Amino acid sequence: MNRFTPLLTLGLCAALSCFAAAQDNVPASVTAALKKADDAVAKIVAIPDGSRTFLNTVGAMDDIATQLDTDTAVTVFMQFVSSDPAERDAARAADEAISDWQTHLLKRADLFAAVNAYASTKPVLQGEQERLLEFTLRDFRREGMALDPDKRKALEDIEDRLNKLYIEFDQNIDEDETTVPLGIDELAGVNPAVVAGLPHTASVYMVQLTEPLYEEIMEHDSVEVARQKIWTLWRRRGGTKNLKVLSQILKLRSQEANLLGYDNYADYVLEPRMAKNAATVAEFYKELRPIVDKKAKLDYAEFLDTERKISHNPHADLHPWDVVYIEDQLAKTKYAVDFRKVQEYLPVDRVVKGLFGITQSLYGITFHDITGQEGQLSFPKVWAPDVKFYEVSDNATGKVIGHFYCDLFPRPGKYSHAACWSLWERKVWPDGSVQLPLSAIVANLSKPLDGKPALLSHDDTVTFFHEFGHNLHNLLTETTIGRFSGTSVEQDFVEAPSQMFENWVWTPSVLQTFARHYKTGEPFPPALLKNLRAARTVGSGLDTEGQFFLGLMDQRLHTAPRGDVDTEKVMLQTYRDATQFTGLPETYMQASFGHLTGYGASYYGYEWSLVYSADMFQRFEQLGLLNPKAGMYYRRKILSHGGSSDAMDMLVDYLGRKPNLGAYLRQLGIDPDTHG
Ligand SMILES: [Zn+2]
Repeated sequence: MNRFTPLLTLGLCAALSCFAAAQDNVPASVTAALKKADDAVAKIVAIPDGSRTFLNTVGAMDDIATQLDTDTAVTVFMQFVSSDPAERDAARAADEAISDWQTHLLKRADLFAAVNAYASTKPVLQGEQERLLEFTLRDFRREGMALDPDKRKALEDIEDRLNKLYIEFDQNIDEDETTVPLGIDELAGVNPAVVAGLPHTASVYMVQLTEPLYEEIMEHDSVEVARQKIWTLWRRRGGTKNLKVLSQILKLRSQEANLLGYDNYADYVLEPRMAKNAATVAEFYKELRPIVDKKAKLDYAEFLDTERKISHNPHADLHPWDVVYIEDQLAKTKYAVDFRKVQEYLPVDRVVKGLFGITQSLYGITFHDITGQEGQLSFPKVWAPDVKFYEVSDNATGKVIGHFYCDLFPRPGKYSHAACWSLWERKVWPDGSVQLPLSAIVANLSKPLDGKPALLSHDDTVTFFHEFGHNLHNLLTETTIGRFSGTSVEQDFVEAPSQMFENWVWTPSVLQTFARHYKTGEPFPPALLKNLRAARTVGSGLDTEGQFFLGLMDQRLHTAPRGDVDTEKVMLQTYRDATQFTGLPETYMQASFGHLTGYGASYYGYEWSLVYSADMFQRFEQLGLLNPKAGMYYRRKILSHGGSSDAMDMLVDYLGRKPNLGAYLRQLGIDPDTHG
């Protein structure tokens, strides 16, 4: 029920992990909002069953949820962007209090009885209203409210124990302080600025296992032994202590699912998704894996050959810790991609302007920078000097349709990845007044320094477009019920619109509209992009199999009968099944896989939604990525609907046929007809 979900794949766990925050730290405005919500719930409950209507019962629940978000979302959001540690703490306390309240709401027998009483009148509803009643009943059922009291009590005990175990699992990973001593010669190839920043003596450099350092070393460290060390220890962060925690989690989740009437935890989690159940996800992998395996085998041969050339050792083997490094080497040598050169054409202000220009023309909208007026318009004021506030209007009608904050540059204490937050939902209130969507786009783009413009890497530009894809999904919604606003789609579809928008940054005609050399003003050279695009599919088979491994392991762990499973055995077996490599015993990587707590049985979703993003993108490829007709069609058929229809129905309507794998395979560099 918590709609306050940042939309990104990385950093999700950080954003959603539980913080021990004192209740008395909750801001007064949030306490008041919760009190207001409580009073409104009491009103629903007090209505005599004979007088129940959609609006005073189920609709009123949506009113309460939406109002609570409107009253508190920006306060809660401050935990990610405020420069004031006290405000961040208070925001976390608020977040926790609201989540608690939301969980307890669906455990209220009196409220469930009220909704049931209304449902038993067999009301004839349509569209969003019909869907809301169905979803609300499903929510209560999934919370165990249809069970007898004994089972409900057992379920609550399980949930309490699970919540504690999730915190323990995440903490064991987060608090790992493994530091790896490496000599300067073992850091060859690593960005000198990064090396200089490491704590060191004359001869020993201490490498902490943080994500940026891990990535830097995997990509650039030319010393295989160093990569092997870091790769292995990164996977051992959770260690044997988390193996025990994980085993308990899996057993309890299985019990939870069984109590609720599902065969396994994956079936429970997947019910409200596009996939619907574990069998569909299993089928998805079964169909895709043999196709991708062919490409992965070709990649493996190419990578092994490169490894042998680089190491001047004709007998060298290829290992998992070599993949990212070789990928980078191949991009630089075989495809001669000069990443630094690419960056010179992507000054940050040009990228932002370019993105704004493209989206405005594509979707028939206009962004007005009205920073400074937000307070007068009863929106929360911007929280830092660099933050901008935009009003979005629809060109066809001239009407304002939404607002967003844009917080692009780093500050101390700020969330360190890029993400988009939906703050307020679009909602038509019972009196006919319309609340417009409000969102925030957050990034950490380099800031211009000493007159030299900040330059974005192609990767950063792709991420920025991705997050802006979420932003548009939030802003262009035309739904009337808060619950279905914008990105409130099935969770395994939510990444598709943002993944699709990444493709714009891979297309020469798009880049040429805004990318200019920061010194000479020369437009983006097509040859530079040609190499970049060619390099895009380098190692795509191996990379995709890496994703299959994680997703498939996640499914196997969450479909095991009774949750009784040797996780190490499953991990190693899945590694052998899904990738070109054999596993390493005693890395216990499953014990460091943070997605298993917050996103159990959900990891498949990333690859799953890529299939739909690629398929939707084809229409733009045919009609032109800058063609407003294609944009308006997509806006109407997909974005405007938010979560008010099933994603599959929207897709069939948009595509004019059922979705298929063709475009996704082409993006991986695989011919969909020959699979070669
Ligand atoms: Zn995303």
